Amino acid sequence: MSGNRLPVRELTGILKAGGIFLEEPMARHTSFRIGGPAAVFAEPAGEEEAAALLAFLCGEKIPHIVVGNGSNLLVSDEGYDGVVVHFGKNMGLLAETDDGFRAGAGFMLSALSRAAQVRGLAGLAFASGIPGSFGGACIMNAGAYGGEMKDVLTCVSVIGSDGNVRELAGEEMALSYRNSRMKKEGYTVLSGTVRLTAGDAEEIAKEMEELAEKRREKQPLSLPSAGSTFKRPEGYFAGKLISDAALKGARIGGASVSTLHAGFIVNDGEASAEDVRSLIAMVQARVFEMSGVLLEPEVEFLGNFRTPLMEIRK
Ligand SMILES: Cc1cc2nc3c(=O)[nH]c(=O)nc-3n(C[C@H](O)[C@H](O)[C@H](O)COP(=O)(O)OP(=O)(O)OC[C@H]3O[C@@H](n4cnc5c(N)ncnc54)[C@H](O)[C@@H]3O)c2cc1C
Repeated sequence: MSGNRLPVRELTGILKAGGIFLEEPMARHTSFRIGGPAAVFAEPAGEEEAAALLAFLCGEKIPHIVVGNGSNLLVSDEGYDGVVVHFGKNMGLLAETDDGFRAGAGFMLSALSRAAQVRGLAGLAFASGIPGSFGGACIMNAGAYGGEMKDVLTCVSVIGSDGNVRELAGEEMALSYRNSRMKKEGYTVLSGTVRLTAGDAEEIAKEMEELAEKRREKQPLSLPSAGSTFKRPEGYFAGKLISDAALKGARIGGASVSTLHAGFIVNDGEASAEDVRSLIAMVQARVFEMSGVLLEPEVEFLGNFRTPLMEIRK
């Protein structure tokens, strides 16, 4: 379906309070600061509008993707010829429960972590430096420094490709390393509940500051990236394999392997999406030659790319 044949009028009818933007540059919505235009960029105002929009897009088989803060996303240079549904602050309701929060998918994970600290609730300090939305974190089972969403997430409200909204709880979410049932089965997360434990606000703040300091020391936070480019292969560390293959500082166009943390590819010179993709493929090939380990990207791709990646058939 070509962008100019997308049913913009119908979409405008559904998103009465939200917004529709045409040919929206995705570079504005990704932490890589890279990406061509989305034919349609839709911002629902709340869960109800989001559910109606997604039910329509699924029912009409219109190509679409839901994105949060774009912090784990590489969008191709030519962009996306479909509807990008953005869950941002319009989808960011937050309600307190007795032992935690109910959060909208667009709420920022770092802000949720801060809200927990202020209430003296422990369990989300690990998430304070992860620059994703709550929904993106649920899908990816985001984690850091020994914690992950799986430890605190009790249930999510999702919408499936049949347009029906349902609740998935506990084991039903099948949260595993950077994966979930929602990701595998293409569910969109609308909101979710985290359960935390009583803690001391000052101690939690101290822990968060220590973790932030670790990130500042070890990660290239001043340059656009999508965090760790690759998943951690079992029994190894991606960053170590990459630096052992002498790839620190390796460059294609404006993309380079960070000299501070080889696990990050950074955009340090107006990189194109294809530069990043080619560098990912080059790192995969070189690390495989040197160690026999195939690195699987953690970063998600949207749109068409010329450079193929190495894959394990599952
Ligand atoms: C500097 C930096 C540091 C990082 N550190 C970490 C870290 O320590 N640990 C870690 O796990 N990650 C880290 N990340 C990666 C990233 O922040 C996480 O993966 C985060 O969970 C992605 O959330 P997002 O909202 O940005 O998702 P997006 O990038 O917008 O989307 C990622 C994927 O999730 C899907 N998605 C997003 N929202 C929804 C939804 N509501 N329903 C269904 N699908 C959805 C998208 O379609 C896409 O496939 C880091 C990134 C950066 C830039």
